[in-house]
Amino acid sequence: MDEVRGSFLDMDRESMTGHIFELVEQKKDVNAVIDALLEETGKYFGLDDIVIKEIIDEGTAIKVNYEWSMDGQKLLLNLERRFLEGVFPKWKDTFEKNPCFVYCYNKETDDNLLIHMIRTDKVQSVLQIPYYEQEELRGCIEFTDYVKPRKWVEKDIIVLKQFTQIIFSYLFDLREIDVSKTQLKELLKTDSITGLPRYEEFFKECVRAASVQEDKCIAIICADITNFKYINERYGYEFGDKILVLFSHCIYQYYTRVISCCREYSDNFCFAIKMQSGLSKEAIKNNVNGLAAFFISRVQEEVIDSNLIVNLGVSVMNDNDMDVAAAVSNANAARKFARKQFSKSYGKVALFDKTMLTSTARELELIGRVDEALASGEFCMFLQPKVRCRDFRITGAEALVRWRKPDGTYNYPDSFIPAFEREGCIIKIDYFIYEEVMKYLRARLDAGLECVPISMNVSRVHLFGRELITYIGKLINKYHIPPEYLEFELTESMYIEDLPTIMYTIDRLKAMGVGISIDDFGSGYSSLDILTSLQADVLKLDKVFMKETLSNNDKIIVGAIIDMARRLGLTVLCEGVENDSQRRFLNDSGCEYMQGYLFSKPIEVEEFDRLFIENREKI
Ligand code: C2E
Ligand code: CA
Ligand code: CA
Repeated sequence: MDEVRGSFLDMDRESMTGHIFELVEQKKDVNAVIDALLEETGKYFGLDDIVIKEIIDEGTAIKVNYEWSMDGQKLLLNLERRFLEGVFPKWKDTFEKNPCFVYCYNKETDDNLLIHMIRTDKVQSVLQIPYYEQEELRGCIEFTDYVKPRKWVEKDIIVLKQFTQIIFSYLFDLREIDVSKTQLKELLKTDSITGLPRYEEFFKECVRAASVQEDKCIAIICADITNFKYINERYGYEFGDKILVLFSHCIYQYYTRVISCCREYSDNFCFAIKMQSGLSKEAIKNNVNGLAAFFISRVQEEVIDSNLIVNLGVSVMNDNDMDVAAAVSNANAARKFARKQFSKSYGKVALFDKTMLTSTARELELIGRVDEALASGEFCMFLQPKVRCRDFRITGAEALVRWRKPDGTYNYPDSFIPAFEREGCIIKIDYFIYEEVMKYLRARLDAGLECVPISMNVSRVHLFGRELITYIGKLINKYHIPPEYLEFELTESMYIEDLPTIMYTIDRLKAMGVGISIDDFGSGYSSLDILTSLQADVLKLDKVFMKETLSNNDKIIVGAIIDMARRLGLTVLCEGVENDSQRRFLNDSGCEYMQGYLFSKPIEVEEFDRLFIENREKI
């Protein structure tokens, strides 16, 4: 049998809030929730009209943003009144002087109506409950009777006070998130440097084209520029940005049939063109190479000493195979292959073929040595401190793997992790790091030393199996680690690949009490839905945002992301912070934590411990 449930107005404050949030979940649209709540309240009390008035334009006017009325006629909705003279200042003054004041008017007993109302003559009684934010009057809700006067009793006033509080403090906040989400979505659709669409938009456009293209021949081309860093270093970032814009212009000038083009990140571009079908491999290569030559000749008009080389990987989709995602990843594999080729010209072009997806000989050699290297202790854990932007206090660390070869030099993660992910052996590495973290924490706890939470990376490969959770659980039990010291980093791109699995994984991890962070946010997809749909604790902004100098547009985007994440209750940390002006900007924008070379590189555990002691002595 269904549980018979009274109105939410019969509930205590906590249940009332819970009920309202359930509604928000169901309806997804905050305005609809507010309307529904007004209706329920109006009917419950048998009122004639309820309006929500908000003070706008720095306190000079008031606007009715929501209305419910018994007869369905919303006469006051959207009404905006400027009350520079007349009753408004008096009203505002009364409320401002008495923050706990609730205005209760009854035509039979009171002669002076303090509120300026539209249908003053008809008003029999009105209850008005104001809302203050940081002691400033933000608006009020008015409960009106036109037919019969009412004597409001204390009990009902208390309920409606709660109602007003909830509407203003939660729902208006959510409504603003809705708005900023739309604005942010727009900002995130285009790349601030080149004005090109972002990858997500590019991808959609390609899928659309692939579904209608008649002669069914589309080439996806991925490009990057060798020595681009040199331009930035030698001529500055502004000039570097100009070169990126130039490259995007060259694509459109050289090709007349561009379907879409995007800059994935730094100097990596991806574009799609309609191609004549039946071209030979050589013809395609020559054609693409022409773009490199065209671009470099344009660069040379600007700088004499350019040593740029354009690497281009091509993947052709035709009738039988129109899988855009696969084509992009193939074109990227071809680009990497092209990069390694020897060439005297300004362009290196490779056409995708299947052998490019397998690991190279060097990678296979590394993979072959994993077990031996694990056994002989060549892998070790480094820690990179996470600090508070405000004062550099160490509040945590990220565990990063290092492979120290017998000769004392290091293989860095970027040189082996992609191949390990492809071959699956990354799982062994991750488990090794997780255990190192737990051992480390156990040792500190046993020694009675202060601990900070340590975060560990979760490779996307774990999502294909189910044992991650069990494994972590076993480790936690074995070492008796309080889960609040553990945090797992899942990268942004995983969310796009397989949302249901990731949600399941996060739920299970959260049930164990460990923290979850979204790693590399902003590096690729920047899907805002990630923020609202997942139960993460920390948002890690990717280092792509931390260029040497941040442009205004970057600042707006970073600021908006921080703002939104915070409103959703996430802690924000920015990675790759290398200079103090970046730190100050982050601090001023409300990003509390950072990680980056400005404070420290990833370091050996012993060094981290020393740094930690020093840090605690200072702050
Ligand atoms: P990540 O998780 O984004 O880790 C941060 C990377 O940024 C680290 O590179 C770190 O050294 C680097 N970094 C930190 N501060 C700065 C800075 O101020 N400027 C710049 N330019 N870079 C900075 P690292 O250690 O080479 O690791 C690269 C990537 O390899 C990591 O990126 C992570 O995706 C992966 N990785 C590292 N260790 C593990 C591991 O144990 N398991 C898994 N699955 N992946 C790992
Ligand atoms: Ca990470
Ligand atoms: Ca990261």
